[in-house]
Amino acid sequence: MVGLNRPGRFVLLCDHASNFIPDELKNLGLPEAELRRHIAWDIGAAGVTEALSELIDAPAILSPASRLVIDCNRHLDAPDLIPEMTDGTTIPGNLQLSVAERANRIERWFRPYHDAVESVLLRREEQGRESVVLAVHSMTDSLGGKHRPWQIAVSSHTDRRLATPLLAALRQHKDIVVGDNEPYDLDPRVDYSVPYHALRRGLSQIQVEFRQDEIVESRGQQRWALRFADAVKTLV
Ligand SMILES: [Zn+2]
Repeated sequence: MVGLNRPGRFVLLCDHASNFIPDELKNLGLPEAELRRHIAWDIGAAGVTEALSELIDAPAILSPASRLVIDCNRHLDAPDLIPEMTDGTTIPGNLQLSVAERANRIERWFRPYHDAVESVLLRREEQGRESVVLAVHSMTDSLGGKHRPWQIAVSSHTDRRLATPLLAALRQHKDIVVGDNEPYDLDPRVDYSVPYHALRRGLSQIQVEFRQDEIVESRGQQRWALRFADAVKTLV
């Protein structure tokens, strides 16, 4: 968690910030190299989130464990909440989990993250502050061998009040390709964090995907955070 008392209008969430796997899970039976891949986390997303948090003076809550331990952006009854296979890789440590093991993952790695988001939003509400939920993700530069042209993409649901002006602001940069609900839209049946924390409360929301190859290094993370912060600051 970063800057929890920052007074800006946005509250940043990073569901897939970390590739940390607790020791007792023994890397989920995977070689180290797999844990550095996008299957374990959103590469670069934590760095962008932390930089953005400073630039727009916003609190940020970052998930502490790999999405292979538990995916904080999935509903508790989703089959891929604790994925047995992802992007062609079987996750041995997630096969045939007992009810107790599943409950332990939820209690240790899912609930504390969402409770932290909840408490920040509630405290701001008590203080009479507006909150806009901004979920930061990163996406791979290709899928199924097909290159993704978008360096940044905004995912929205039916409420387009922020997405439309944000897309317009991002598209002022003629040298970048901006995705509007591609490759992903915001789907309350699949996504959990933004629907649970923002849609349920009637808060405005934005979900953004940065393409990973642009934000692997800290320089790229800073550059994209700056660019995105400028666009966000144009929203009224
Ligand atoms: Zn993500």
